[in-house]
Amino acid sequence: MSTMNFPPTRAVGRGAAWYRGDCHVHSLRSTGGELTPEQLVIQARAAGLDFIATTEHRSAAAPGTWGHLAADDLLIMLGEEVTTKTGHWLALGLGPGELVDWDYGVQDGLIDQCLDQVHRAGGLCVAAHPHAPYPSGELLFPMHGFDVVEVWNGLWSSDLPWNADNETALTDWARSLTADVPTGSWRPAMGNSDVHLDGQIGTPHTVVFAEELSTEAVLAGIRAGRSWIAESADVDVSFTASANDRIAGVGERLASRGGQVTVRAAVRGIPTATVSFHTDRGEVHRSALSSDGAGALQWNTKADDSAFVRIEVRHPNGQVAALTNPIILT
Ligand SMILES: [Zn+2]
Ligand SMILES: [Zn+2]
Repeated sequence: MSTMNFPPTRAVGRGAAWYRGDCHVHSLRSTGGELTPEQLVIQARAAGLDFIATTEHRSAAAPGTWGHLAADDLLIMLGEEVTTKTGHWLALGLGPGELVDWDYGVQDGLIDQCLDQVHRAGGLCVAAHPHAPYPSGELLFPMHGFDVVEVWNGLWSSDLPWNADNETALTDWARSLTADVPTGSWRPAMGNSDVHLDGQIGTPHTVVFAEELSTEAVLAGIRAGRSWIAESADVDVSFTASANDRIAGVGERLASRGGQVTVRAAVRGIPTATVSFHTDRGEVHRSALSSDGAGALQWNTKADDSAFVRIEVRHPNGQVAALTNPIILT
């Protein structure tokens, strides 16, 4: 890990804790963006975020743009939205001024060396809005080189926080888990606003368990899938599985030695929501929350029956309010 080259925007935060962040952020330096970095940081704090990643289209963060806005309680990671001819991806955790080439399509055979460039820098490659409904928006590269998939992108759903393109991305991702969890090659999900305009930042965002509020620790939490996605900071989800006095959280592995596994979800901030539990056998359990939006649910299984378990929380109209990465059962 000696090649780590993170920018001087480190914060320590609250130590090992859950941190909320939006890793797909455009300022007015991106086409269609209207907010200054200063305005974005003010709005990020107001949205309850602990970190953001700057991801301008086809360009590195300009020197002197972001560093002075970072603080002990707000981490600013540097990145780029690599907008190629056949899909967009996020390079997160780049060094200051580092640019990733974007001028190619799937037929040019250049994607692997670009993904390698980010990985060598200790960064993370995120498949962005894989089903965005506009030319070059749909991601056509093979998924194998990406670390994470953005199953929830807020940009093309400004009137509603969830839309059909996100639903398709979620369905694809859920299907991939069934094949990839047993081989250990599963790819965590994340959610980002893709903010361009006033008031969009943080809808949705990713809540990450990190050892500290630093680029390295936050990216490690995202890479491991120790994260879940929230439509806003009003939403809180706790999701664990336990067996034989062991307990595992989102993105962790629980060894149950064939015994019963108790899965618990506690949800707050989503009135009359429905919580559904999903495994490699599809949806296995569903329960409604009360009108005050708070509730605790429990469901039992065994590793023989469920290779993993994850939850989705939806509003009565079917819109997703929160979803988690899986807990792996062995
Ligand atoms: Zn994009
Ligand atoms: Zn974008």
